[in-house]
Amino acid sequence: MRRRDLILAVAVIVSGCSGLMSRESPAPVTNVGNAVLTTTTISVNIGESSSSTSLTTSTSTTTSTTIASEPVAIVSPSGVVVPVLTASPSGGWIVGTPCANTATLDSGMPVTHVQVLIDPGHGGDETGAVASSGLRESDLNLDVAERLQRFLEYRGVSTLLTRTDDYRVAIAARGELAQRVEPDVFISIHHNGGPTTPTREPGTLVFHQVASSDSRRLAGLVYEELVTTLSSLDVSYAAGSPPGAVAMLNDSGLDYYGVLRRTDGITSVLSESFFLTNPAEAAVLESGYVREQEAIALGKAILRFMETEDAGTGFLDSRTFEGPGSGTGGIAGCSDPDLL
Ligand SMILES: [Zn+2]
Repeated sequence: MRRRDLILAVAVIVSGCSGLMSRESPAPVTNVGNAVLTTTTISVNIGESSSSTSLTTSTSTTTSTTIASEPVAIVSPSGVVVPVLTASPSGGWIVGTPCANTATLDSGMPVTHVQVLIDPGHGGDETGAVASSGLRESDLNLDVAERLQRFLEYRGVSTLLTRTDDYRVAIAARGELAQRVEPDVFISIHHNGGPTTPTREPGTLVFHQVASSDSRRLAGLVYEELVTTLSSLDVSYAAGSPPGAVAMLNDSGLDYYGVLRRTDGITSVLSESFFLTNPAEAAVLESGYVREQEAIALGKAILRFMETEDAGTGFLDSRTFEGPGSGTGGIAGCSDPDLL
């Protein structure tokens, strides 16, 4: 395991106990339960009067119990997150890989439950947008995703990343992982590219699933929090199209973006917060402070979605995608990272 992955894995274990359970074989997960409360009475002397007062304390001991919770994903020894397809007859798990192949793993950290699945867009030789400064969208997406993960885990929300380093992950594999994990929220983190014109307001776009009112509400909350945060920064913004929370459709009337289409049944949104092709926006994104503010905005929106009935803002009529797609996200030319 590379050092960076080890650090990440350890961080996840420490902070994400609700989502990850560490074990080495596919035997049923052992969990702590059935707390046994014992009471002890201690006599203490208070002050000079030497009168005695009883102080009652409680200590709890625990017994182990077995719960029937099979892993839905594994964090491989090298830190790659993969969905569990089935238990392997020879031991271990048969998993899906980032390039949508299958592999057998007999070690790694099983994941049994995740509330928020965070999807850093692109990776490997699919960099996404690239700023004139050289800042790559794939690197930025991962950094913001990791900051969002820390924000949510600190607040007791279990999370998992679809990509943990700089490697390709096919759209099909992201969808497979989401369908196995069945999170409460799936959020795909991107930064926009393409031609823009200067605007007073941030050109933020948040895409939702056309057929899901929950996805639409989440997108409205993400848009609201992002625009509040971005508007507080001193930046000359630009937009490629009217900003807002919107469904982008293909010619068949389905969600154009694969990560929203392949996560059918899961509340999913795709965030395009800043335009990397606007040099002024790319410049502020060099700052860890600005990336942290973006991640906090995403996290606050997710918490509001889970804890309130807030409606969100910025809703636009659905659009149909025009022009050629990026042609990326497929399995052609995809090379799987080392899982061990
Ligand atoms: Zn992107």
